Parts: sequence; structure tokens; C-alpha cells
Amino acid sequence: MHKQTWNQILAQISFSVDQLQFDTWFKQLSPVDNASSNVLTLQTHNKFISDFLEQNYKSLILKCAQSISADIEDIHFRFGNGAHPTVNKNLTDTRALSPDFIKRHTETSNQYKEIPASRLNKRFIFDSFVVGSGNEFARSAATAVAEAPGKTKFNPLLIYGGVGLGKTHLLQAIGNFIHSLDQGFTVSYLTSEEFYLEFIDAIKNNVAKKFSQKYRTSDVLLVDDVQFFSGKESTQEEFFYVFNTLYQNGKQIVLTSDLPPSSLKGLQDRLISRFQWGLCVDIQPPDLETRVAILKRKAEEDNLNIPENVLYFIAENISSNIRELEGVIIRLLAYASITKSDITIDLVQSLLKKTMDKGKSKISIDEIIEKVSDYYKVPQNHVREKNRRKEVALCRQIAMYITKSITNYSLKTIGLNFGGRDHSTVIHAIQQVEKLKDKDESILQDVNYIISMFKD
Ligand code: ADP
Ligand code: MG
Repeated sequence: MHKQTWNQILAQISFSVDQLQFDTWFKQLSPVDNASSNVLTLQTHNKFISDFLEQNYKSLILKCAQSISADIEDIHFRFGNGAHPTVNKNLTDTRALSPDFIKRHTETSNQYKEIPASRLNKRFIFDSFVVGSGNEFARSAATAVAEAPGKTKFNPLLIYGGVGLGKTHLLQAIGNFIHSLDQGFTVSYLTSEEFYLEFIDAIKNNVAKKFSQKYRTSDVLLVDDVQFFSGKESTQEEFFYVFNTLYQNGKQIVLTSDLPPSSLKGLQDRLISRFQWGLCVDIQPPDLETRVAILKRKAEEDNLNIPENVLYFIAENISSNIRELEGVIIRLLAYASITKSDITIDLVQSLLKKTMDKGKSKISIDEIIEKVSDYYKVPQNHVREKNRRKEVALCRQIAMYITKSITNYSLKTIGLNFGGRDHSTVIHAIQQVEKLKDKDESILQDVNYIISMFKD
């Protein structure tokens, strides 16, 4: 692994743990080259540290590693066998191994783990869920259910929608909310795949009876991604009984899936019909404003200062998936913390080449400003700022017009890149240039010529 990549991963980790933990557990780690590029092997200089990392921080490290390099699938730990210069045991290590020290660190590290009782991730709460037109209905239904589990008509509640749009977040928010009420409800959260695996395991070990009791005693059962039940007949049967028992006892059931129940293939009709007894709500991809709001929120959570025009640029270019939006913030965070450089559109563009929506807005507004300014011999910064000189204003209007013609940027984004003007100014500029093109042959030629420079 490239040193730079490992440093980025380290930077990412450093944001998730405190300084002492970072120094103790992560600082001396070094990546070891191995045959598979999908496994990141990390070397430590004593077994205790590798065991501790394995048990407590593996998922954190994996998450950080994946945010930097998407093909990493697993993390292995190994301790000094000479492949790399091993750090000698020194005073720091002795301190690191004292029982008191271990206890303290094991305790603090728990705050980064899931709530063991119900395996809920504390990050997924209603407060951190940004509401927009695509998810408003789902969020209201989820809140209603969380406030009165089993008491609303929304039983079961089924939330469906595409990947990375917040289904798991809402499902777990319901669980976390009910947990926080502390009214003694038993909340069970699991994915349908886990249900399947546990069920198979129970049969293998002859404890199927115990298994069937386990979920039938929940007050709130949250099952993620029910599409994975597809084709698994006996698991569906078992789930059918769990469902019926809970439903008859007025317990709350909440499910998520990637498709509406009627489109789920490989599921028994009786299950599909039960899934539709309560309320089915969908989550739609977020619109531009919601994407910007989500980015702002995530940047704030991470204390990352991203200029408004850059936020819009990211939101314009990554439109399908909130998980990807988060990934961008994480990468920017790593980058900014290492290079201490400002976050600009150029930087974002170069970091995100792979993630960007294909074919969309490949041309940056900066490139357009550059070409138009060169052509009219007007300084670029005058075009970007509020300079009102006539030739500057014309050059700016033409640049705005061209941007609108050859890219997919919204009026809002365009305005922000031309000295923070609002969208009505952009509309006005476009209308002006259209009029001028009709009246003045030379303007028409200028515009066509500049546009031709962007065609390969
Ligand atoms: P899904 O289960 O639909 O595939 P997730 O619930 O795992 O998606 O969401 C993917 C990521 O995006 C999570 O980290 C989640 O916190 C975040 N996310 C999704 N929707 C929102 C939202 N409306 N506001 C804030 N974060 C969101
Ligand atoms: Mg999910």
C-alpha cells in the first residue's frame, strides 16, 4: 500500500478517536504488503495490541480504509515477524500494557461501538436525519411509530427505496428513540440475512425452539432488507410465524426493503400480503437542496469548512446516493487534514473523478471562466467578483450563458461561482446574451467559437 494512502486512512481514524487512543493504538501501525489488494494487513509490535485492535477497532479501521480505498474488504492484524522494522518495546509500551491503562482504554473505546443490547448504531437517530421532499413521509411515519410502538395503524411499517437513501438510518432511529425512552421495551434489530443465518445455525445446533422464542418476545422488531428472504423458504416460514405472533400481540414491526412489496420476487404471497397490512412508504433520492443540506450537516459534524460553491458542486455531481455524499466528505476531511490546503472545486474535482455522475458537468465553471476571460482579455478574478465595468459585465454574462448551455449546473450553482450572485441574476444574464446574439452577429460568433473550444 502506498504510504500516502495509509496516511490518509490514519488521518481518517484520527477523527474518530481521541488523541490518546490514537497515539496508543494506531500511530505505530504499519501496513504490510501482501498479495491481495483487498485485504489490508496491519502490523503491530505486540500481540496484545493486535488482539485489542481486532476486537475493538476492526470495524472502525475498515470503515476508514474503505472511505479512502474502496476495494479494501477486510483488515488483518499481525504482530512483528520482521517483515518490517519492528519497534522495540519501550517505555510507552509498558505503560500501554498496564491493567489500569487497558481498562481505561477499553472503556472509552466502547463509545464507538454499537449498543450491545440491540446492536443499534448511535449515529442513526432522528436528529441527524435531514428531511427533504423525498423522505419526509417516511420520516413522519417512522417518528409516529417510534412515539407509540404498536399503537398506530402503521403496523407493520415498511420503508422501501434505493441503496444509500437512509432506510437503515430511519429503521435504527426508531430503535434508538424507543431505547432512549427507557420504558423497558425490548427492541430487536437485525437484517433479514442475519435472521436467516441465525436460523440456519439454530437448526444445525438443534436449538430451533430457542430461536423461535427469541424474536417472538420482542416488543419492537426491526428487520432490515427483507428482500434477502427471497428464495429462502424455511426462513420465510419461520419469519411468518414470528410476524404473526408479534402482530397478534400488538407488537410493532418495522421492515425495510429495496423494492415495494408487490415487486419483491421469491417471497411467499402470504408474507407479501402481510407486509402490506400496515403502511408502505418509499424514500426517493434527495433533490439538490436536500443534498446540499445533508452535505452541510455532515461537514458541520466533522468541523470541516467547505465553501458554499463547493458544496453545490458536490451536490450537483453526486445525485443518487447519500452514502456517496458522505464518502466525499470523508475524503475531503482526510485530504484537508493532511495537506492543510483549502477545499476548492478543482480539488474536489480531482479527488472525485471516479465517483462523479458520468457524463454530467464534466466541464468545470472555472474552465469556462478561464476561456471566456482569455478570449475577451478580461482578468479572471474580475469575472468572478462583483466588478461592474461594462466589458467585465458582458464577459461574465457570456460565461454564465455558456455555462448554462453546455453543463448541467443549476442556476444557483452558476450564480455562486460568479461572485455569489443569485439565480435571478443568472436568468437575466442568459436573457441578455440571447438578445445580443440575435442583434449582434459578432457576439453570436464569439459564443459559438468559445463553445466549440469545449467540444473534443
Ligand atoms: P440504506 O439503508 O437506504 O441503503 P443508509 O440508511 O445506510 O441507506 O444511509 C446511508 C448513509 O447515508 C448513512 O450513513 C446515513 O446516515 C446517511 N443518510 C441517509 N439519509 C440521510 C438523511 N436524510 N440525512 C442524513 N444522513 C442520511
Ligand atoms: Mg440499509
